[in-house]
Amino acid sequence: MASTFHVEHFGCRAARADGAAVSDRLRVAELCDASPAVADVVVVNTCSVTAEADRAARAFIRRTHRLNPAARIVVTGCYAQRAPEELAGLKGVAAVVGNSHKALAPDIILGLLGCAEQHADSELIKIQTAQAPSAPPQLIWADDQFAHSFVEETQIVPGAQTRPNLKIQEGCGNRCTFCVIPQTRGPSKSLPTETVLRQVEGFVAAGGNELVLSGINLGRWGRDFSGSEGAVRQTLAGLVREIFERTALNRLRLSSIEPMDWDAELIGLMEEFGGVRLARHAHLPLQSGSDAVLRRMHRRYRPWHYVEKVEALRQACGPELTLGADVMVGFPGETDSEFEETVALVRLLPFGYLHLFPFSPRPGTPGWVLHAERPVPSEAVEERMTALRALAAEKCKAHRRRFVGRELEAITLHTPGELEARGRSAALTENFLPVELEGRLEANQLVRVRVTGLNAKGALEAVEARPAQYAAIATSV
Ligand code: SF4
Repeated sequence: MASTFHVEHFGCRAARADGAAVSDRLRVAELCDASPAVADVVVVNTCSVTAEADRAARAFIRRTHRLNPAARIVVTGCYAQRAPEELAGLKGVAAVVGNSHKALAPDIILGLLGCAEQHADSELIKIQTAQAPSAPPQLIWADDQFAHSFVEETQIVPGAQTRPNLKIQEGCGNRCTFCVIPQTRGPSKSLPTETVLRQVEGFVAAGGNELVLSGINLGRWGRDFSGSEGAVRQTLAGLVREIFERTALNRLRLSSIEPMDWDAELIGLMEEFGGVRLARHAHLPLQSGSDAVLRRMHRRYRPWHYVEKVEALRQACGPELTLGADVMVGFPGETDSEFEETVALVRLLPFGYLHLFPFSPRPGTPGWVLHAERPVPSEAVEERMTALRALAAEKCKAHRRRFVGRELEAITLHTPGELEARGRSAALTENFLPVELEGRLEANQLVRVRVTGLNAKGALEAVEARPAQYAAIATSV
């Protein structure tokens, strides 16, 4: 009988893309999906962005071991990279694979299940052959070299995820003082252009319509190529143009890009392709609206740079742009007036949504030391979070309300049972607004919808207007 596995995801889109790539590789090796209660291997794909994320991963591991003591638990992701020994000490954990060795995770798992001979030419087998024959099985796979950090993707296709992520960049060379990512994912590394194009072509050939380009610091894509001799400078904007020129992809969406990486060329692409093949959706992490706090965070922009970038994007995309940001509350030393600067900036800009986070000190970062010196009392953090949550909800509603009565392009998604029972389908507009569409439609249809209202959950209610005009674009490539 085939061995079974389960992958449990924690964390961001990029981490999810890693977990999906591991799952795909295991399916190719003929392992079957199962629930954590019965799977032979349970892969815990961890995040370590906050202390809460660490706690959630540990709780899941304990629960899994209690439920399914025979399962080999393999822990990977950012927490596995940051504190491998801590995780190796938990009951049931059979291997800890840091991001530095993530590409080897599928082979390590197959090895635990006794199927390693299927992959005799793998990098893992080469490493193991180099070890002493009497060496005990290796429990921890993590170092600071990050030589095996990119999980080689199997072909991305529209499946469980209608709009899958293609992770084209890994790691980050910035040194924001609150962030543990440079430790957990190493320096910036990019997927070569030809690999990206091959993936996009394969996705289109499999019937895919919308693809999300993602990365840990996506705007840095291509910078690591400039070190190689004779290399021409490659940029994310150049890559996006090549995707449009050399493939028939209908819609591309860019995930989070740092404010200063929105250069004139990238913003120009929004003007040229926005609303047609490029989604008018931009996520620019803000973190704080206070110059002083941004300096303490070692962020590379000031509030006025941020405003300039948003104005340029807004000009390029028009009012259809959905703008999103991450905002951090309670960074060490954040005063009431510094927080008020953030509130004022949020009020000023046309945000369609915000991701709000309380600051969480991470061991080994400068923020940990700053927090020890000037912590913000937890009651103040809670009060500030409440105030910003209310403002974010107000802005989100105001942004969505603007589209009532309008027609928008959208893609249908897998519809949750509860919505289906009401004769409706889930969809997402090109500019990133959730829609409840009248009628039952299969996932992955490009449709044009007419927005009829905004419901209590904040989703747009809509009826189908007419099929979207993509076929002509795709066939003209
Ligand atoms: S840009 Fe800053 S916050 Fe983002 S991953 Fe890099 S170090 Fe972390």
